[in-house]
Amino acid sequence: MLNIKTDRNNIKMSKFSKYASVILDVSLDKTLDYGVPADLLNDVKRGKRVEVTVKGHSRSGTIFEIKDTPSFPNVLPISRVLSETEIITEDLFELALWISKYYCAPLSQVLKVMLPSSVRKDIKPKQQLFVMRAKTRDELLEICKEVRSKSPGQASVLDVMLKVRKGILLTELLEQTQGTRSPVDSLVKKGCLNIDIVRVDRSPISNEEYFRSKPKILNKEQQQAFEKILKSVEKNQFETHLLHGITGSGKTEIYLQAIEKGLELGKGAIILVPEISLTSQTIERFRSRFEEKIAVLHHRLSHGERFDEWNNIRKGHAKIVVGARSAIFSPVQNLGIIIVDEEHEHSYKQSEEGPCYHARDVAVMRGKMAHAAVILGSATPCLESYYNAKSGKYNLSHLHVRPEAISKPKVEIVDMKKEFEKAKGYTNFSQALLDGIHKRHKSGEQTILFLNRRGYHTTFFCQECRESIRCNHCDMALTYHLNQHSLSCHLCGYTLAPPPKECPKCKNPEPMKYRGVGTELLEKSLHAVLPDIRTLRIDADTTRHKGSHQKLLRDFGTGKADVLIGTQMIAKGLHFPEVTLVGVINCDTTLNIPDFRSSETAFQLITQVAGRAGRGALAGEVILQTCIPENSTIKHAANQDYLGFYEEEIETREMFKYPPFSNIVKITFSGKNEKQTLKSGESFRQQLLKELNKDYELNPVLPSGYAKIKDNYRFQLLIRGPQIYSINKAIQIVQQSLNISGGIRILIDINPTSTYF
Ligand code: ADP
Ligand code: ZN
Repeated sequence: MLNIKTDRNNIKMSKFSKYASVILDVSLDKTLDYGVPADLLNDVKRGKRVEVTVKGHSRSGTIFEIKDTPSFPNVLPISRVLSETEIITEDLFELALWISKYYCAPLSQVLKVMLPSSVRKDIKPKQQLFVMRAKTRDELLEICKEVRSKSPGQASVLDVMLKVRKGILLTELLEQTQGTRSPVDSLVKKGCLNIDIVRVDRSPISNEEYFRSKPKILNKEQQQAFEKILKSVEKNQFETHLLHGITGSGKTEIYLQAIEKGLELGKGAIILVPEISLTSQTIERFRSRFEEKIAVLHHRLSHGERFDEWNNIRKGHAKIVVGARSAIFSPVQNLGIIIVDEEHEHSYKQSEEGPCYHARDVAVMRGKMAHAAVILGSATPCLESYYNAKSGKYNLSHLHVRPEAISKPKVEIVDMKKEFEKAKGYTNFSQALLDGIHKRHKSGEQTILFLNRRGYHTTFFCQECRESIRCNHCDMALTYHLNQHSLSCHLCGYTLAPPPKECPKCKNPEPMKYRGVGTELLEKSLHAVLPDIRTLRIDADTTRHKGSHQKLLRDFGTGKADVLIGTQMIAKGLHFPEVTLVGVINCDTTLNIPDFRSSETAFQLITQVAGRAGRGALAGEVILQTCIPENSTIKHAANQDYLGFYEEEIETREMFKYPPFSNIVKITFSGKNEKQTLKSGESFRQQLLKELNKDYELNPVLPSGYAKIKDNYRFQLLIRGPQIYSINKAIQIVQQSLNISGGIRILIDINPTSTYF
């Protein structure tokens, strides 16, 4: 939070006519003032980057405001202005201020997530030198003959230069001559050649050609939704539209046509998609409609590529931005449309570090500030969004029909308790699922198996003391990986190889036992039952290398396997027409997490996975394996009844005063010293109690779901109440009065996606 302390009595007459308050890049919770030297007066502006001196070191920062008097005497001058234009434009600055206030984060931290580090650090675009002829070919031919014997280096340069059409990159020229640069420079000096600087565009948009796809004729429901959106775009009217429709119901087609209309009106667009669905399949759909006007921002871009894309957007060369969470901060000119696809996705929330912003909520606020239309799309909208739509805050459109006339998949719930009885023990596959896979295999169709757990066995425990082997650094049982014959921690990557032969605790000599199933074991056990089945596995273990995810998907898409086994990495946005069966191996794990969002998350996950079945001409089938078949979330998911689920869940939320009927703030305290960390949390809570009235409920400080990560103990405090800003204000007061140090980190998460972890 900004806290600008002014002590006017102290201000001496200073030698500057203007002052700039600067937000330093290092996380300081206040701005510092600097004088503007006369020669820089025309060059300073809010949002520009500058270099200043702090305690003898030069530091960079962003100008927050220009003013006539400084807040303290004897200010130092600004050393340098680093950017030609303002890096944070006025509209984004306004947004940054809101984020800082709403998410209770220092402005410097907000600016840090807003700007790609390459832009902050001013990584210059890659420049190359282009060599051209400065004289006619005939003239050069003469010169070439003259120098042939005296300077053969120059002659061979000229040989190449006589052949090229317009010119050649210096690097290529040197490659061809196999010589040094000096003969080129000599020829430039003599006026025979010219060298020019050219920008090499590192744009990740490849030069591949795309077949331009044409807009489809919208069906009635699509048309109605589209017209509502169009109205807000045409009138420059902020409005949030919630598009509720199952996968394949034509939401993306509406996005595409809305963007197209926006372009005609000279407006730009931002489309947010979850990082995991930024696959070539998604990108191609946008690119094939808009070609060169698109910038794609994903986490595999190099710093340079990101810098270029950002500049392309800033200068208006790219009018459409497709990207994950942080793409919401793209400096799109004349922003008219903001789309958040799969708006319920938790990956839109930044949870690991501040500001813990939710890109969907930032999107709505940015839309409001820019008078733009905001479109949220989902098959399973998050409860808050649907509630907002039902209460009239958002505009609601339903899409019920799938344009490609695909029938909804048939969903069957299988009671695994009965299957265990039949099998006289644990089994991964119900008979129905095995029969289904077998049938698909015979007819050349494909199956997807979903299990939200990678590795082989999920725990490794002692038969005597029942203790499982845990990570040395985290509060987490280690997972066994057959491939590496090792135990590893899924929180910090700690590995133990080979696994111990006897229990390290009680030294019981009997061999340790494995328990639980991960994707790796699932794959193996499927081969044991159906030996000639061909499988592919997609999880964090099989997709470590760049491009391997894409390759596995491509292999499956081209029929190189019968069954695709995977974690949530395969749940989203994929389109495989030959997949007619989806098996959810165990849909109970998510439901068992003690969090008020568990049912919602489980419902979303099951619906999403089920949506992978029957996307082509063939009808789909889904099998849900569970030990709690009577659970109503599972039943609603099986019936693909979002409304039924919503009605039931919203009632529970209201009864227990959970969002959207309240706001929740989670403060996580973490530190190496367990006792001290807990104590800090508790004194924070005590202070906070004094600042908040009875409408606000403060839970006791408790260990987080992951009570220890990487040697840091974690405790959390949950606060629940009607007004976000009241909670934030109280937190700020406590933060300023309590001097918490000793290496204890405090993370403030406003309306967290998980109240457990
Ligand atoms: P969603 O985004 O809801 O999953 P899509 O927009 O991807 O749905 O539509 C699913 C499929 O139907 C796509 O192949 C799309 O090209 C096609 N489609 C969408 N709208 C129409 C339409 N009005 N007429 C014909 N095909 C359509
Ligand atoms: Zn660990």
